[in-house]
Amino acid sequence: MPFSSLGLSDAIVRAVADTGYTTPTPIQTQAIPAVLNGGDLLAGAQTGTGKTAGFTLPLLQLLSSSPVGKALTSTTSPRAIRALILTPTRELAAQVEESVRIYGKYTKLNSAVIFGGVGINPQIKQLKHGVDILVATPGRLLDHMQQGTVDLSKVEILILDEADRMLDMGFIRDIRKVLAALPPKRQNLLFSATFSDEIKALADGLLNNPATIEVARRNSTVEVIAQKIHPVDRDKKHPMLAHLIKTHNWTQVLVFTRTKHGANNLVDKLEGNGIKAMAIHGNKSQSARTRALSEFKDGTLQVLVATDIAARGIDIDQLPHVVNYDLPNVPEDYVHRIGRTGRAGATGEAVSLVCVDEHDMLKDIEKLIKQTLPREVIPGFEPDPTARPQPIQLRSGGPGHRNGGGRGGNGGGRGKPAGAGGNGGGNGGSKPRAPGASASAGNGGGRSGGGNGGNGGRSGGAGGPARSGGGGGGNAPRNGANPSQHRSGGRGR
Ligand code: AMP
Repeated sequence: MPFSSLGLSDAIVRAVADTGYTTPTPIQTQAIPAVLNGGDLLAGAQTGTGKTAGFTLPLLQLLSSSPVGKALTSTTSPRAIRALILTPTRELAAQVEESVRIYGKYTKLNSAVIFGGVGINPQIKQLKHGVDILVATPGRLLDHMQQGTVDLSKVEILILDEADRMLDMGFIRDIRKVLAALPPKRQNLLFSATFSDEIKALADGLLNNPATIEVARRNSTVEVIAQKIHPVDRDKKHPMLAHLIKTHNWTQVLVFTRTKHGANNLVDKLEGNGIKAMAIHGNKSQSARTRALSEFKDGTLQVLVATDIAARGIDIDQLPHVVNYDLPNVPEDYVHRIGRTGRAGATGEAVSLVCVDEHDMLKDIEKLIKQTLPREVIPGFEPDPTARPQPIQLRSGGPGHRNGGGRGGNGGGRGKPAGAGGNGGGNGGSKPRAPGASASAGNGGGRSGGGNGGNGGRSGGAGGPARSGGGGGGNAPRNGANPSQHRSGGRGR
């Protein structure tokens, strides 16, 4: 089925044709007519399915064909923000806005993107000038709302993109504040890769009799991706990665590490092997992140090392290789990570370097994706069969990260008052192994106010106590314990 049969105007079909896409993806085939109908939409689609065009194309169509849209000229007429697209990260916001510009180039609509980590004044100027379609991360949008530099009273269409990620990152309060500033009569579209109870609750409150679409089975991994596990000793991961890159002549590799510190370390080591690498994570300035991403995209940077949050929204056509240098703490992140390759029908390869410490994590991942992944031992890197597992470092730096993990359940589960030593937190969101450990870990920050909070993973397995968040909340954006902390973390603001 061609794009022209979906009810889109010539101007939009022409812009799509310019990009070289000829056939709509399944999410586009379903979402475009549903959105053009004017009703609300709940869409289950993960990144890589073509979801961005799935909402951008009908959005452009609706706005340009309404009387207001028709009256617009490119230079005159006061513009009001008629569509608001919220995304979890800066990178995704920038990419979505780029799509709006690309697909909207033959319409008279204009767009802007606002996110944190960069100066606010140019954004204020742009907003003053008039914007039809605004793409924003929640934190910075809230800043503008508080300063009175953005007017959302004319929004006709709201889109929450990667809503599950926004909730994971602790943006629910910000989102609710934004919702309160929108006119009650509007069209709402919610896109999410997964449907947790929290997402369902958000959807129930937000959407009015929505059409529902689900293109990829929940938590399924994209079929065209070849996945492989390379068992390896923990201290041989780096030489193994260098070996794989060199022997297979990989030219564009996205590598995931669990921590920012781990990412920096790996970059240094790869550079030592003569492999050009850069890291992208929350401690890097926005300009460093943008530079690394653009060099990686244009092929001048061979290896991009990223943490999960920073990698969100990286959109590169046909990225051939994704490497899990460390397995993610949260099994769902595995699906997100490998979704970076084999995008929109292209084939890709995802390999995971797994040491003895990570066997439980691997089990959780295989359970989630309902597959046993093939193991391939690389000659010269055979793992030591007598190696014993060690606790996993869940995040970079600071005291307590070795003890805090929900996985090991050490953050108080042994009867030590969690907050007393300042190490209480634990990983509020990861899956506790020891009964009782989860509650202790989650309570650590709340009880004492002095602990290290928790890592606030996405599964929220640690339950209520962590979420009620009365205390210090070191790295626990989801808990909402201390909003200012997570905002300063540079995750999308
Ligand atoms: P998304 O899921 O929106 O992040 O898109 C994933 C990738 O698919 C992006 O690189 C898009 O440019 C690409 N894409 C979007 N629509 C199509 C299409 N109809 N055919 C082929 N590729 C597409």
